Order: sequence, then structure tokens, then C-alpha cells
Amino acid sequence: MRDVTQDPARDEGQDGRTQPPPLAEYRARARAWIAENLERASGSRVEYRVGEPADLAAERRLQRRLYAAGYAGISWPREYGGQGLPAEYERAFRLEARGYRLPDFGVVGGTTYGVCALTMLAHASPEFRRRHIPRILAGDELWVEFFSEPAAGSDLAGVRTTATRDPSGTWILNGSKIWSSGAYYADWGMCLARTNWDVPKHRGLTWFAVPATAPGVTIRRIRQITGDAEFCEEFFDNVELSDDDVIGEVDNGWTVTQTMLLFERGGGAAHDSSRRVAPRGIAPDLVELARSVGRLNDPLARDLIVRAHVDDLARRALLARLGQRMTRDPGTAASLASYGKLSSGVYDPIRARLAMEIGGPDAVAWERDDADPAATAQAKAAEAFLGSRFMSIAGGTNEMQRNTIGERVLGLPREPSFDRDKPFREVLQDARAWTGRGGSSR
Ligand SMILES: Cc1cc2nc3c(=O)[nH]c(=O)nc-3n(C[C@H](O)[C@H](O)[C@H](O)COP(=O)(O)OP(=O)(O)OC[C@H]3O[C@@H](n4cnc5c(N)ncnc54)[C@H](O)[C@@H]3O)c2cc1C
Repeated sequence: MRDVTQDPARDEGQDGRTQPPPLAEYRARARAWIAENLERASGSRVEYRVGEPADLAAERRLQRRLYAAGYAGISWPREYGGQGLPAEYERAFRLEARGYRLPDFGVVGGTTYGVCALTMLAHASPEFRRRHIPRILAGDELWVEFFSEPAAGSDLAGVRTTATRDPSGTWILNGSKIWSSGAYYADWGMCLARTNWDVPKHRGLTWFAVPATAPGVTIRRIRQITGDAEFCEEFFDNVELSDDDVIGEVDNGWTVTQTMLLFERGGGAAHDSSRRVAPRGIAPDLVELARSVGRLNDPLARDLIVRAHVDDLARRALLARLGQRMTRDPGTAASLASYGKLSSGVYDPIRARLAMEIGGPDAVAWERDDADPAATAQAKAAEAFLGSRFMSIAGGTNEMQRNTIGERVLGLPREPSFDRDKPFREVLQDARAWTGRGGSSR
């Protein structure tokens, strides 16, 4: 493990305590380190897709190098392996590293560093954080979310995967999860389980850390319309966990869930303006696409490009405004994040369809050709179209974002609920009686 007292990113003050160096000096040092230690990214953005677990070795090595040099978790607490520096140091490093190749763990990088670790920092015990956060920063642990179930997606508090504590103190996990992005190459999953069936559904939930390779865990990949198989379903058969694996408090998992959803919907990152989409000219991807099909001078195609450009501008302005509001008033972040999420859910399908309209009737059948970059760019547009509904579902559907905005921002009346105050066991018994389906042990 790295010795955090030797971090090159810090100075020793006169009183023996470590002081953050002046920002300009830090930035100059980071620039020099980056030039010496990182490779230039080739092209505008290297396309990297995690295929099989072996692909990760190079990314993990790169992450470890950043960690060893003190450039991973720059604004995360020092006691958990971070640098404890203010957020602007993190931003400064990221700006200096633009154009260089940084570790890319695909979708699991987002869940590990953007959602799970931040949730752990907010809710897990100090011992849990000491055990896992340094390993996450070093690239040794990648995490996914075991959240959704076949019968609990939008109604997330309705999960039925169950953890029961046996007399020896071991938790026994049984049930199944679905739609877990990238679980097939993750090391751990954050799993939401029911630990109390005799209280209303939001009150009997607990989060657990589940090793992906633990005995009793089965992970299967699901083929998607794009041809990828990034999603997984998991089955838990008598998986043994301990109190050390609990994240947050037993039966108080809904509080942890609120934090997790905030990060998942971009409420955490939106405060950071360096993450926002920078101005990119006039829809350059669509300009290239129109050129590749010989329609750059076609007024109809140009009209579609301008529509995309106007939407791009409006979306950037919306995200910038949301970021400013959240920074000014962090208490609003949880509900305002729904606007940003909804903008992706509404806008992604429109943007992807514009590309297909430029391409014409053959576009949706475009295929990759390694020898032909234009064909590959076209195929990516077709794949983006097939996958363009992702953001209207993932992390809460468009309808659920609208519900949140209606209730929490606009102050409209809450959706009527028949099960909010009933013990969850009774909710399921009622549902079985209404549908005429009996037979479960619960
Ligand atoms: C790209 C992608 C990545 C994902 N990654 C993960 C992951 O890593 N881990 C994970 O656990 N899950 C993941 N999911 C699952 C995702 O969170 C769920 O699919 C989502 O919450 C919707 O749940 P559902 O599919 O069960 O749909 P349902 O909840 O069954 O909804 C069906 C329809 O009913 C509507 N609806 C439901 N309730 C209401 C209501 N109260 N008011 C109005 N309309 C309503 C919905 O909007 C939707 O149109 C992912 C999904 C996608 C698409």
C-alpha cells in the first residue's frame, strides 16, 4: 500500500503538518508528471470497450500508477488513501490531463468512482472505508450496483432479495438482480436486500458489499439490441456475508439509496464545471456523417445538423444552469439532478434519430469495417440509435424523473400510494390475494 505521508502532491508545513501547495505550483508539478508518465491519447477519444476481464490489466496498471503518485482520489479523504485536497486541485489535474490516456474501465469505471465509492464515503463505517476505498483508488476493486430486480425497478423499495442473519451472526443472501451494467467484469457489487419484512417497504432495507466471486453468486450476461452484452443478471443462493459487509445501517438502506441515486443521476458531478460538455463546434459528428454519405451540401441534411446544434447548445446551457444552482444551494441537488437526467433521457433519442435521418433508409443497418474509419463512424451512429433509449430508463425512467420534479421541485401532490405504511409482507400477501396467486413462503 502507498505511504500517504510521502505524497509528492503535498508539502510539509513549518509546523510539521502537511499543507496543500499553491494551486499554480500543484498544477505545474502535475503537468510535468503527466508529460513524463502518461501517453498521449490518439485521436479525439480512444474508443475502449471492456470485452473480457483480461482487458483490464493495462487499465489497472495505469490506475495504480496514478494512485502511487498521489493523483487518484485527489479530493478524497487522506485517511482512506485520497489526498484530501480541495475540489479545484482535482479539476486542475483533470484539465492538465486532457489529451492524455487515463484509465478507462468502461461503464464500471462510472459506477465504481462516480457512484459506489462516493456512497461508501458518505455512509459506510470507517473500517469499511479503510478496507475498500484505498483498493478502489488503486484500481484493485471495481464495483457495480446490484439494485434492480425483475419486480423492482421504478419501485426500487419493493426489492425481494433477502438477507437473513443466522444465530452465528452470518448474513445469508438469497434472491436475484437484473440489468447490472458490467457486472461480468466487476470485483464487487453493492447489493440492496430486504432485512425486515415486518415494516413498511422503505424501512426494512440494507446495503451489502457482495464479492462477485463469492460462493453462491452466479452472474450471467444479457445480449442487447446493440449486439453488446454489457448487462447482467445475478442469482444469489445462500451467499454468506458478515456484519463487516454492511454499508450504512441495518434496515436504514433507503437513506443510502437516496445518496446513491443522487450520484447516479449526476447530482454530485454537476457541481463540477470541468466535467460539463465543452463547446464542440457545430455538431461535428453529424457534419462528418453527412460528408461520408455525400450530403454535406444537401439543404435537408444541413437543416438536421442545425437542429442538433441548437439542441446541443440548449442542453449545455441547461446543464450549466443546473450546476450553478446546485453549487449555490447543495440542498436542491437531489431533486434538480432529475432535470439533467431527464434531459439525457429525452434528448439522446432525438439526437440519435437525427443521425439516422441524415444517413437515410440504409443507416440503421450500417456495419463496422476496421479498414474503413468512415464506415465505422457510421456504424457507431447506428449503434447509438439502437441504444438511444438507455438514458430514458437507466437510473430511473423519464416518467420517474418527471414524478420527482413534480413532487419535489414544483410542489405538486404526491402520487397516491396504497402500500407506503403497510408491512411489506402484507403488501405481497394482498397482491397475491388480488391476483389469485398464492404459494410463497413470505
Ligand atoms: C442502460 C441501463 C443501465 C442500467 N444499469 C443498472 C445497474 O447497473 N444496476 C441496476 O441495478 N439496474 C440498472 N438498470 C435498471 C434500471 O434502473 C431499471 O430498468 C429502471 O429503474 C426501470 O425499471 P424497470 O425496467 O423495472 O421498469 P418498470 O419499473 O417496470 O417500468 C415500466 C414502465 O412503467 C413506468 N412507471 C413505473 N412506475 C411508474 C410511476 N410510479 N409513475 C409513472 N410511470 C411509471 C416506467 O416509467 C416505465 O415506462 C439499468 C437500466 C438501463 C436501461
